[in-house]
Amino acid sequence: MPAMLKQFLAPKYLVPTLALGVVAALTAADAPGKKGVGYTSTPIIPGTSWHVHDGDRPVPRVVTPAETFSHLAKPPSDAVVIFDGTDLANFEGGKNGKPGWKVENGYMEVVGGTGSIQTKGKFADFQLHLEFATPAEVKGNSQGRGNSGVLFNGIYEVQVLDSYENPTYPDGQCAALYGQSPPLVNASKKPGEWQSYDIIWECPRWDAEGKNVKRAAVTVIHNGVVVHHRKELTGTTPHQRVGDYSKPHPPEMFIQLQDHGNPMRYRNIWLRSLGEYDKP
Ligand code: MG
Repeated sequence: MPAMLKQFLAPKYLVPTLALGVVAALTAADAPGKKGVGYTSTPIIPGTSWHVHDGDRPVPRVVTPAETFSHLAKPPSDAVVIFDGTDLANFEGGKNGKPGWKVENGYMEVVGGTGSIQTKGKFADFQLHLEFATPAEVKGNSQGRGNSGVLFNGIYEVQVLDSYENPTYPDGQCAALYGQSPPLVNASKKPGEWQSYDIIWECPRWDAEGKNVKRAAVTVIHNGVVVHHRKELTGTTPHQRVGDYSKPHPPEMFIQLQDHGNPMRYRNIWLRSLGEYDKP
């Protein structure tokens, strides 16, 4: 039996799968998106046959991650420490002109409605480490459950979501390049458990005439599991639309953490600039 089929025949999936099957039968004319977690009228993502947020896109298989990180581990010596658990001094933004998130017990927590926050510093090509936890008390479902995001320049999002047994459209699940590419696998931990992202980000570049000459590329390691390997973004990552590179910007970018209304937690955030190899 194919692994994926086996996965869906597991008891924890069988009931929701059957339920979705009933919904699908009732709305048979409605494909794609008939699973009830996607959209039917969004544009096609360039280079694929999928609609943006297509509910019929294959669901990444589940991998139980190893214990591969510790918040007690100190950052590398050349890291820029963005958040060490003390305060939000390295952040700005927020709806009232300053970050409204709370800091306690070595982590920051989204206070819903106070707005997204972003680093004061701007960075080009880098390795970013951060840890996050979705709420231990599960509320909501799909995109309404443990939603946040790591956005570069506020326009390229690596999704943060509670994707532990929480069906949603695959290009919007945890670690998805939002609206473009689901992760290779689902390495999510349970609600309330600390998780890690190690993200290697290469910024897009434009020439002097404003023509895009290099796409953004990203490698994402989620809880020690590779979920994107130098995946190129087709452009920005808007909701229900296809993004592009029509608006050139400097390679140095701020890093934004999204307020999507859920009390998400972050800790231990640092980055290292990639630098360059020596010349041949
Ligand atoms: Mg998000």
